[in-house]
Amino acid sequence: MRAIVFTGVGEPLVERDVVRPRLEPGQVRLEVRACGVCRTDLHILDGELERPKLPLVLGHQIVGTVVQRGGDSRFELGERVGVPWLGWTCGRCRYCTSGRENLCDLARFTGYDVDGGFAAETVADERFCFRLPESFDDVQAAPLLCAGLIGYRAYGMAGDAERLGLYGFGAAAHILAQVARWEGRRVFAFTRPGDTDGQAFARSLGAEWAGGSDERPPEEVDAAILFAPLGALVPAALAASAKGASVICAGIHMSAIPQLPYELLWGERQLRSVANLTREDGERFLEFAQHVPVHTVVSVFSLEHTGEALEAVRAGAIEGAAVVSVADAA
Ligand SMILES: [Zn+2]
Ligand SMILES: [Zn+2]
Repeated sequence: MRAIVFTGVGEPLVERDVVRPRLEPGQVRLEVRACGVCRTDLHILDGELERPKLPLVLGHQIVGTVVQRGGDSRFELGERVGVPWLGWTCGRCRYCTSGRENLCDLARFTGYDVDGGFAAETVADERFCFRLPESFDDVQAAPLLCAGLIGYRAYGMAGDAERLGLYGFGAAAHILAQVARWEGRRVFAFTRPGDTDGQAFARSLGAEWAGGSDERPPEEVDAAILFAPLGALVPAALAASAKGASVICAGIHMSAIPQLPYELLWGERQLRSVANLTREDGERFLEFAQHVPVHTVVSVFSLEHTGEALEAVRAGAIEGAAVVSVADAA
């Protein structure tokens, strides 16, 4: 089958024919329809996440059709499902048994520990797949599976913040802004300095203010979520925050956070990270996204152009989310 293969840091992605993955008991085999591009894919490509399976098929926002089942399954043949970043957990560690499977010590992640979705087919543990709302077509559903999910988990940590700051207005923020506006929150969007197109895009999705990450918003925010992987944004976000605010780092990797004066944290400001997702997050968010309804803005690439999709995300050249359409790649 056709697949885009990552062989190591510094090596270009290559499209090649690979052996079809073996179906283990408890898994489903999926014909991939679409797979979203995530910033995390770049962190793997660049060696910032250090222990990927190699060679590896990247991609962890997979929309696929069930074509084979390795035993009993919740899913019918032909049913469309979504596969997220969390691919497997042990079910036994202190995290798994306390409703925090996102922190499982032995967790395996899609498109990192196991092969992902930039391929004609993939296999996935059926317990970690989601049913997808029919109102989203394949390419529109894909970004919900990480950008949407992780954003939603971070949003939960923002509590009932009325004024929400979003740093980095890419795939995740463009979804979360819609959710936040629907709930009546006020959204302040921070982009790369000078990215006036990105700022206009944010305003078109309901942000009442949009500016560069080096600017102060017209009002303090009650929570800030950082999607851009820049540690220097942490003191900037704290400085833009009201007393009692939370600053939430939503990415899996971030450059070093510079030393900061205690006054920035003082006033009961909180700083925390978001790690991965639980299946419960997924079920709740997909239901919610359908209800709002979220409208994902996507730029679609063919499988052979996966590398270009990744570089476009790196360059900040994508409005909304980049998605690889895999239909007919077999
Ligand atoms: Zn992701
Ligand atoms: Zn565990």
